[in-house]
Amino acid sequence: MSPPSFRARFRCSDGCDFQAELTEVVYRCPRCQGLLEVEHDLEALAQRSAAEWKALFDGRFRAGPWPLGSGVWGKKEWVYPQLALENVVSMYEGGSPLLRLDRYAQELGLGPDDVWLKECGVTHTGSFKDLGMTVLVSAVKEMRARGVRVDAVACASTGDTSAALAAYCAAAGIPSVVLLPRGKISIAQLVQPIANGALVLELDTDFDGCMKVVQELASAPGLYLANSMNSLRIEGQKTLAVELAQQLGWEVPDWVVIPGGNLGNASAVGRGFLMMKQLGLVSRLPRLVVAQARSANPLFRAVAAAGGKPTRDLEVAPVAAQKTLASAIQIGAPVSARRALRALEALDGLVEDATEQELSDAAARADRAGAYADPHTGVALAVLEKLAARGTIRKGERVAVISTAHGLKFSDFKVGYHAGSLPCVAPRLVNPSVQVAASLGAVQDAVAKRFGVRA
Ligand SMILES: *Cc1c(COP(=O)(O)O)cnc(C)c1O
Ligand SMILES: [Zn+2]
Repeated sequence: MSPPSFRARFRCSDGCDFQAELTEVVYRCPRCQGLLEVEHDLEALAQRSAAEWKALFDGRFRAGPWPLGSGVWGKKEWVYPQLALENVVSMYEGGSPLLRLDRYAQELGLGPDDVWLKECGVTHTGSFKDLGMTVLVSAVKEMRARGVRVDAVACASTGDTSAALAAYCAAAGIPSVVLLPRGKISIAQLVQPIANGALVLELDTDFDGCMKVVQELASAPGLYLANSMNSLRIEGQKTLAVELAQQLGWEVPDWVVIPGGNLGNASAVGRGFLMMKQLGLVSRLPRLVVAQARSANPLFRAVAAAGGKPTRDLEVAPVAAQKTLASAIQIGAPVSARRALRALEALDGLVEDATEQELSDAAARADRAGAYADPHTGVALAVLEKLAARGTIRKGERVAVISTAHGLKFSDFKVGYHAGSLPCVAPRLVNPSVQVAASLGAVQDAVAKRFGVRA
């Protein structure tokens, strides 16, 4: 029997019946301005049993053949089935570690098997953005191969999207343009697209300001928009949910806690779990918790004002996002708010926020148990700590915290924490280095002072 041929297409996510091919340059529904989503032929996909899908995905996972060893492309039939394999632009994304944080969990009063860290930042450009960008840039390569005009790909970014776009475009030989808010991203994030040869434009505004400009810029022919309103990225990010279940032996956790800015990733994770349930790979859904920085918390405010229960019809009023250490989520007008609310409603979700103090201490607490948490993961950890303290998350329940970036991209945050120089933070877990003379005696004294033993 020949394998069934699967196809996906764009469809309006706001209820009208607009459809388009994935090779068309279209981001919003031309009829109602709603965002598009990639629609899969679930009936065709259901011709394979859940057991067959699991065996297929397990067989490819971190193995191959190229590029199917990628965590994203190993699930190609669920992402962009009809894409020609020769147009896949992969940097071996996905397949990231799932760590059991037993010592950290016990500090929160939870069990040693309860808290798991999905390290999406352990990847080519150091953030989960690779998962979506591999799909978008591959789609652009396919468009160009078919004669669709795309001269360059452009995005506005809080630092990680631009790093991913620049790297994947460099790998594919496609020009890229990135718009960044000047002085509001880390030095590591700034130098990444510079190194990869993108046109790097620093604008004297915030992310929301960059986003406005890039949307107008991309309305001209030839420039393709790579922001997460582009639902091709969501399809790649969706695989993070599938991979998470796969790493837990095809079980779902009880809770998934994820930091949210533009809210594309939270909606992608929701989509992944829903698709697995629809196709029978899992029998239940986790509860989804979106964690926002208090300085940029439009979703939290909207949900709190409605009594704490997220529903799809809530309006999320834009706020002026204030400065936060979690700079990648300093976003006041989240593009994917509606998509995220739909995911939250379907996954019996919650929305919480965390202060600068809370996110910094939570990151440091996890670091003391062996992690190396970036400030965004700190936001998610701080929210986990609150929910555990409140008894909402209980001992014996399994929690997956989505770590969105590598801590090494945020060295200023770490250095500032341990030096006690971060704004609005009185750090509780500092561990400053000790300056000692270059003599055995001085070192012995320092060791004795710290550990109470004399070597
Ligand atoms: C982009 C980003 C987020 C937020 O993801 P959204 O899809 O915008 O909600 C969180 N953390 C890091 C490190 C990011 O780069
Ligand atoms: Zn529509």
